[in-house]
Amino acid sequence: MAEPRRRQSVSSVTLVVPCFNEQDVIPEFYRRASATAVQLQMRGITMDMLFVDDCSRDRTWQILDDLAANDPRVKVVRFARNRGHQVAVTAGLDLADSDVVVILDADLQDPPELVEKMIGIVEEGYDVVHAQRRTRDGETAFKLATARAFYWLLKRLATVDIVENSGDFRAITRPVVLASREFREPHRFLRGMFCAMGFRQTIMKYDRDARFAGETKYPLKRMLRLAADAIFSFSSTPIKAIVWCSMLLWGLSLIFFGWSCYAHFVLSSTTAGWTSIVFLLNFFTGLILMSIAVVGSYVGRIFEQGQQRPLYWLEQARNVRFAADQQAMSPEARLSRRVIEANEAITEKSSGESIRPRSYSEAAAHAGLHS
Ligand code: UDP
Ligand code: MG
Repeated sequence: MAEPRRRQSVSSVTLVVPCFNEQDVIPEFYRRASATAVQLQMRGITMDMLFVDDCSRDRTWQILDDLAANDPRVKVVRFARNRGHQVAVTAGLDLADSDVVVILDADLQDPPELVEKMIGIVEEGYDVVHAQRRTRDGETAFKLATARAFYWLLKRLATVDIVENSGDFRAITRPVVLASREFREPHRFLRGMFCAMGFRQTIMKYDRDARFAGETKYPLKRMLRLAADAIFSFSSTPIKAIVWCSMLLWGLSLIFFGWSCYAHFVLSSTTAGWTSIVFLLNFFTGLILMSIAVVGSYVGRIFEQGQQRPLYWLEQARNVRFAADQQAMSPEARLSRRVIEANEAITEKSSGESIRPRSYSEAAAHAGLHS
């Protein structure tokens, strides 16, 4: 971790909060975060909250929309489809325009009260403050064990130094946010991305609370997917390992070949070894399949990257101001602005009268055609 460079002054902070089916926690989150806003206000820092609704299926959007209607500090956007936690955070980073952005989960596992402390650390001259979990309350032994195994593996495989036991709870300054907008890989592992970006980074330790309400949206399958994204995006070791593996096996098969020659010519005991043939057959086909799978994982990523699809597209937004500077906008933010404008236009039109001509001839006349 780096030394601070200079003291910085912070005048505005945005909390970026990804939400997926969080109807039970949002009111409490808002209450606690608002208390933090008051604390910051006393130090002359304005705070707003940017909630990214990852196309929830419960009442999350209605609750957020209501909050935004009553409090201009609450900004809300809604994805047109569920794109996952990492992409929801990305959208928040694309739209936030404060001096500092703090990413935190809606479920209050990352206490909003710590934001003030993080801002203090940023003011000392740091650009990235990773919140590292000292303890993790309310997590199953299984989750803790898999998390430990994951970081152990990642430390050995990854090309960048990734801060252990840090989730996505971190504070980042505007220069880092702007830089992050150019990182558009579809398989996202944001904590690795920030560690790889440089700038002045430091760690703040904290005790992670249990989820306030609701249940985790990271079941084992999603955890494994995130782990695969981390390893395949930040390490080419698996692909290189195939080479070493095949060389080792080639050596072993040579030894086996030598031994069978010896058995044939010297010992003259060449009974057909059914067991060894079956064993070798299984062993090698298994190995080949595994190798193809590893190569396939990279090829699949190249394919998806090659498609260059947008990471997300918003369908609704409230209290959000898109950046005036086109250059500073990510392609997704530009796309979302157009989609939202079209969405608003179509809702206005359909609520107005005489938009749909009643007959074909009327429609043709409307369009300047003659039937
Ligand atoms: N989340 C999201 N989209 C998803 C899954 C999760 O935006 O598809 C949000 C979720 O609402 C929460 C955060 O990501 O604010 C972390 O999810 P969760 O608390 O379920 O994960 P855990 O803390 O159990 O790892
Ligand atoms: Mg959580």
